[in-house]
Amino acid sequence: MTTYREFHRRSIEQPEAFWGEQAKLIDWRQPFSKVLDYSRPPFAKWFVGGVTNLCHNAVDRHLKDRADQSALIFISTETGANRTYTFRELHAEVNRCAAVLREQGIGKGDRILIYMPMIPEAAFAMLACVRLGAIHSVVFGGFAAHSLASRIDDAKPKLMFTADAGMRGGKPIIYQALVADAIRLSRHPPQKVVIVNRGIDQNLKLVAGRDLDYASLRDRHLSAQVPVTWLESSEPSYILYTSGTTGKPKGVQRDTGGHAVALAASMRYIYCGKPGETMFTTSDIGWVVGHSYIVYGPLIYGMASVMYEGLPIRPDPGIWWKIVAEHKVTVMFSSPTAIRVLKKQDPAHLRKYDVSSLRNLFLAGEPLDEPTARWISDALRVPVIDHYWQTETGWAILSSMPGVEATPTKFGSPSFPAYGYNVKLLHEGSGQELGANEKGVVTVEPPLPPGCMTTVWGQDERFVQTYFTSFKDRLTYTTFDWGIRDDDGYYFILGRTDDVINVAGHRLGTREIEEAVSGHPDIAEVAVVGVADQLKGQVPMAFAVVKDATKVATAEGRRVLEKEVFDVVDKALGAIGRPARVHFVTLLPKTRSGKVLRRSIQALAEDRDPGDLTTLDDPTGIEQVRAAIASMRAN
Ligand code: AMP
Repeated sequence: MTTYREFHRRSIEQPEAFWGEQAKLIDWRQPFSKVLDYSRPPFAKWFVGGVTNLCHNAVDRHLKDRADQSALIFISTETGANRTYTFRELHAEVNRCAAVLREQGIGKGDRILIYMPMIPEAAFAMLACVRLGAIHSVVFGGFAAHSLASRIDDAKPKLMFTADAGMRGGKPIIYQALVADAIRLSRHPPQKVVIVNRGIDQNLKLVAGRDLDYASLRDRHLSAQVPVTWLESSEPSYILYTSGTTGKPKGVQRDTGGHAVALAASMRYIYCGKPGETMFTTSDIGWVVGHSYIVYGPLIYGMASVMYEGLPIRPDPGIWWKIVAEHKVTVMFSSPTAIRVLKKQDPAHLRKYDVSSLRNLFLAGEPLDEPTARWISDALRVPVIDHYWQTETGWAILSSMPGVEATPTKFGSPSFPAYGYNVKLLHEGSGQELGANEKGVVTVEPPLPPGCMTTVWGQDERFVQTYFTSFKDRLTYTTFDWGIRDDDGYYFILGRTDDVINVAGHRLGTREIEEAVSGHPDIAEVAVVGVADQLKGQVPMAFAVVKDATKVATAEGRRVLEKEVFDVVDKALGAIGRPARVHFVTLLPKTRSGKVLRRSIQALAEDRDPGDLTTLDDPTGIEQVRAAIASMRAN
């Protein structure tokens, strides 16, 4: 058997031979003529000339061998719905949805924005888009109007696919008010909005000429057969927006062939799935983890996928284990925050169910702390695999690869570079390569392997500038994460090098939250930092300067304004961006050149040394931050 080391070495030294073999894991309509075209660094084109289709690979090709096996298992503990679609039924639904979209004039290259709760129609819409060669952009259903509008303006979708409402913790989240606000704020609103009416929003009103009811459209196409639109491997399949240091989210663009091959290979070497088995990824399709491993990864590999709408603790904290037991889940993928939530509950909930079908539990999205890793691996008695990746890469950068070799894991470490990634730790300033036990920036020597982002949607220059110019005279991809490698070659991730924070495994740019807070008319200036939190990893905390200080002179005044700021953020970004606290100050700590000292603010909020303050313009700013934090702790 190959060892991990040999496997990885071959992927780096002979990428064409390596990936040429992996490409056999998917169906090609026409074979590629060249595995890699890297003539325009850092842009990589994989499987040049190969013609394929994601929907064909995820659905149609399985009809031959597994038409009557489960494909999508939908479970909602919010509405009580429970429906399983076989590959045959999934094929029929995707064709109906594709026919609906085609009837609205959607074809190759058109963008569709999918703003949906976790219901099967969301997956049908994704697959229908790729069937037609249209480019979908899924926007997380928890994002509010402003976030939605900025994504609409960037992607310029012809059509939006949405629902009347989502549900969370038993409470409806009415989408239509958010959609209406987003369309009003947008400069390029979609011409059509297709709405899946779940019957949750009793006041749902369709806007004549724009809004269409999905059920009525679908009824007209019950036996539709929509031919697959075959695409050249490098043609875009989707855009997924992610936060960066600027307030403007970046549209991560993914190709078609490379994406399919990368996901198929990861199902084999990382997740150790087998066709016909069931995978349960507890994320949301609006986040890259869910996008890749609720929909495309398992389906491309011929596995059934569980799509779950609901919380991990409702109706009780055993619900996920009940699903594992009932559906004989072999591969499960979740996040450290979710496991920390479960850790606070009675372990009897877990012991009630037979989870012996599970082969491994994978966790990603944020650092996995040792107590959480230990607790869940003791409770489940299966290996817990921490792996590290980003929206940009679409699949793991660092992971153990039990499908190649069962290497021992170390708590706190996502193990080794995945095949295809030439990972290097570089010195932040000099760009020199670092050795064992030296902290540096985690980088990847290009070309990036198949499945990684191919560019920023519509902005090639931004792609190069943002990701490949951090080090002078060295074209290398930066992850914006600090890391360290021990003597045994295990990597440890030590946090971000930029102003991106990670709340419950979800990435947020502090800039975006600052812009949202500044939307309140009383706020003159604000700094948002990510502060360590026991449950969520990090939470945003805001330090705001008000225009009229008398408004926050009393505790009641501060309480009222803080609540108003929360509401403004909820409306702009959604509750996910809401700061844990808003502290009011009259001055922010800044350098003489006017740069806010976010790292010092963060250090104080985490009870650490604020570091070098000699560049401060006025010490009052930092004193006020210190005082605000002290008074919060005292209360
Ligand atoms: P996202 O693009 O939203 O998936 O966020 C990616 C970021 O999450 C990475 O750049 C890391 O900062 C963090 N991250 C993801 N997985 C891990 C992990 N296993 N350990 C530590 N940090 C992680």
